[in-house]
Amino acid sequence: PQDMVDRLGRVLRGRAAPRPVQAVAGVDLDIIAGEVIGVVGESGCGKSTLGRMLTGILPPTRGEIFYKGRSVATLDAAARRQYELSVQMIFQDPFSSLNPRMRVIDIIGEAPMAHGMVTRAAKEAYVCELMQKVGLDPSYRFRYPHQFSGGQRQRIGVARALALKPSVIVCDEAVAALDVSIQAQVLNLFIELRREYGLTYFFISHNLGVVSHISDRVAIMYLGRIVEIAPTETIFKAANHPYTQALIKELPRLQAERRQFDTIKGELPSPSDPPAGCPFHPRCPHAMPRCRVERPLLKSVEHDGVSGGESKHLSACHLNDGS
Ligand code: SF4
Ligand code: MG
Repeated sequence: PQDMVDRLGRVLRGRAAPRPVQAVAGVDLDIIAGEVIGVVGESGCGKSTLGRMLTGILPPTRGEIFYKGRSVATLDAAARRQYELSVQMIFQDPFSSLNPRMRVIDIIGEAPMAHGMVTRAAKEAYVCELMQKVGLDPSYRFRYPHQFSGGQRQRIGVARALALKPSVIVCDEAVAALDVSIQAQVLNLFIELRREYGLTYFFISHNLGVVSHISDRVAIMYLGRIVEIAPTETIFKAANHPYTQALIKELPRLQAERRQFDTIKGELPSPSDPPAGCPFHPRCPHAMPRCRVERPLLKSVEHDGVSGGESKHLSACHLNDGS
């Protein structure tokens, strides 16, 4: 199908630029246009780093990102700018990401005007339309961020991102700071906007429950690596990786707003000094001697004797090699 061709990101062995710590390693991920891919992991697992690499904020020191078949690193300045406009980010804390001294009309309308996407004369109508789209009363356009609730501020952040007509939105813990009831409203807004604009989301969260609500596929990250990736339904029905299984067991607690995965035995090791072999082995209830020395690769998981196919269900665990 056409949208299979229209791939966003393939990050090959990327790693974070500013620190010598390898935050993301060996991630090889295709994002299909129009899909919602959820990325789940504990804080420090590298999921935010991966998200920032996709937006172009953070160039990978190794590896490449391809957008519509072209390596982002090789784009000329104009194409690069186009890429950066196409991939917008929505942050966790809508308050600190909005300039407190700017009125909503400018927060939403300045950047598209600066990029020549809307004229000064048309700016106000453009902002009003966007405010309506995200469920904000356009008559509030001259107000400042502090005059809005947390949920409304996140809607302002969404309108600001939409104003640049993106095709991809990276949401980094975009609902984590909101009350549970407001979380559901904002998630539903994301779902509506995706339908209306054909958006692709890269939806990063520590909360598998939140991610499952919105994602077509879920990628589970552990210490900078994707350890399992599958359609959302498959993750819940047939999680393969012991870490994913532990996350699923942990879900009821997370829904009670607990942030730590504390039934998973042991601490998250430092990403700067990941364990040898399988990075999950110090915490894994199924660890075998081999797990301490040999790193498992992402491989296709079979269901009922039938291969899940190249991109359907992948997991990195030695248990899959059979005994
Ligand atoms: Fe556990 Fe070994 Fe599988 Fe790693 S490879 S998840 S340690 S069983
Ligand atoms: Mg983070």
